[in-house]
Amino acid sequence: MRIIPRLKCLALAGALVGLWVGIATAAEPPIRVGVLAYRGGDHANAAWEPTVRYLAERFPERGAEMVPLDLPGMEAAVQARTVDFVLTNTGNYVELEARHGVTRIATLRSSRAGASGAAIGSALIVRADRTDIREVGDLKGRTVMAIDPDAFGGFQVAWGEMLKAGVDPYRDVKELRFSGFPVDRVVFAVRDGTVDVGVLRACVLEELAAEGRVDSSQFRVLAPRTSPGFDCALSTDLYPDWPLARLASTPEELAKAVVVALFQMPADHPAARGGGYDGWTVPLDYQPVHALFRSLRIGPYRYLREVSLVDIARAHWEWLVVAALALLWWAIHSLRVEHLIKVRTAELRSANRDLVREMAERRRAEETARERQKEMDHVARLSILGEMASNLAHELNQPLGAIANYARGCTRRLEMGTGEPAQLAEITRAIAEQAERAGQIIARIRNFVRKRASQLEPMDVNEAVRAAMSLCESRARGDGVAIVLTLADDLPPVLADTVQIEQVVLNLVVNALDALEGAQTGAPEVTVRTGRDEAGRVEVAVADRGRGLTDEARSRLFDPFFTTKPGGMGLGLSICRTIVEAHGGHLWATDNPGGGAVMRFVLPAAGKAQPVGNEEQHHAR
Ligand code: ADP
Repeated sequence: MRIIPRLKCLALAGALVGLWVGIATAAEPPIRVGVLAYRGGDHANAAWEPTVRYLAERFPERGAEMVPLDLPGMEAAVQARTVDFVLTNTGNYVELEARHGVTRIATLRSSRAGASGAAIGSALIVRADRTDIREVGDLKGRTVMAIDPDAFGGFQVAWGEMLKAGVDPYRDVKELRFSGFPVDRVVFAVRDGTVDVGVLRACVLEELAAEGRVDSSQFRVLAPRTSPGFDCALSTDLYPDWPLARLASTPEELAKAVVVALFQMPADHPAARGGGYDGWTVPLDYQPVHALFRSLRIGPYRYLREVSLVDIARAHWEWLVVAALALLWWAIHSLRVEHLIKVRTAELRSANRDLVREMAERRRAEETARERQKEMDHVARLSILGEMASNLAHELNQPLGAIANYARGCTRRLEMGTGEPAQLAEITRAIAEQAERAGQIIARIRNFVRKRASQLEPMDVNEAVRAAMSLCESRARGDGVAIVLTLADDLPPVLADTVQIEQVVLNLVVNALDALEGAQTGAPEVTVRTGRDEAGRVEVAVADRGRGLTDEARSRLFDPFFTTKPGGMGLGLSICRTIVEAHGGHLWATDNPGGGAVMRFVLPAAGKAQPVGNEEQHHAR
């Protein structure tokens, strides 16, 4: 006999109280009946010893032996086949049936059984005055007490009922407690208000009331239901009572003989009275118990608790669908974005290529325009200087003639030996001065005609006017024209290219001298005036009393190649306007009241309105 340690003493006690109930013959071992001692060996002995003794009496040649076992011991004994039959509760039976193939051969006929023979159910009790708890669904958020997680009628059947009502006692109630035996602890806890709801095996309340231990009127059974022939208050379905089952290894003949013996037990037999039953009946259907255990995922269906991915998928399929749709949307969105980025990048790359090409072309065009402008400025300067070549030659003649005179005087004195060193030094200093003057004239001409790019720097317009004068005053002298300078001495500097501004002034003065040629005026003169206009800009006006502007000249003055002069190029004013506008200024012509013309131009003072894109404006024209 294999006995688990916890029950060793019980088994020993069982053996001592003489569970050798029959006289065993030498040949055949006694019939061994494993009995579930769920409340300890003493209780099991009291309840089932008479039944095993009955069997022993019916099989005098073999005898019968009771083996009290707890749940693990029962499993071990069946596996090791150390018992022939098991007498166990409904829940344990279906587990042994599923795991080890034990077969029920008879079911206990309870004295309280209904018409179907089923006798195990649960009653959910509350205190009679708790009107707030009526349905099983009302258990949510309450405290609940049951006997034991493994108690079939005392918990599991009620558990199944709760799940049907949508209440998971392990999740939805405020607290789930297990009292253990004796069962009246549950009743007292409900009565005293320690818990809201109690779970009892059906009929326990009636039994305790019959014993006078509780007043059943203090309690109410939740969601009461009836079953034909079943007299106890009930909140659930009814399930079959304990079965007697044989092991697969138990001989058929022996099983038959035991069944016959049990069926023949009269209802009032001491064995039946001791076990609290009315006898034995044909084995009932335990499928509803399997179904219950399957729904609770306990006993043989405990494996269902291992949550698989499929379970999760089944339980949360809506969320999975939402997640899958979200994922799909995200994937489509990502692909779309990626595609758009690719397309856009390609577009940008091509636009960039076009831009780079355009920029290169523009740079080339600008370069060409700059070169062309430089050429034109140069040509214009050469041309205007060409017009004055004879005057300039005359201008140079003066210092050269003076040098020759001084040199001759010097030579003479040296030859005559009258040359005092101090006098000679005076003469050679005068020669040097004149040579310097001639050199300055040449330098200025060279500077004026040099081919060069425009250079902006703060400059004094009056200086440009004076420099221009030095180039044209010999011509004026030759023409008998006085050039009157009226230069303001408080002019702000302008940011400009000195040579270009000089060129503009020179052009305007030469045009004025040209206009005076042949004109009938008393005292021919050209006035060059500098000052500031009302906007603070620097203004230069060149006025003459020449022949004035014809209508055609007034409208076409600044057109390239417009000229009324036989040897004219018609480029002077056009280039002057381009230069002035490139410096952010403006050039225009008006009539001189009383005859002649006034050519004016303004330039912004440095630091006020800088010429913008000087180069570009310059060359765009
Ligand atoms: P060019 O001097 O080679 O003719 P410009 O562009 O300098 O070229 O001048 C264009 C024309 O404008 C001149 O031919 C002349 O008819 C007219 N003009 C310019 N300045 C004056 C002026 N001060 N008085 C009268 N006519 C002028």
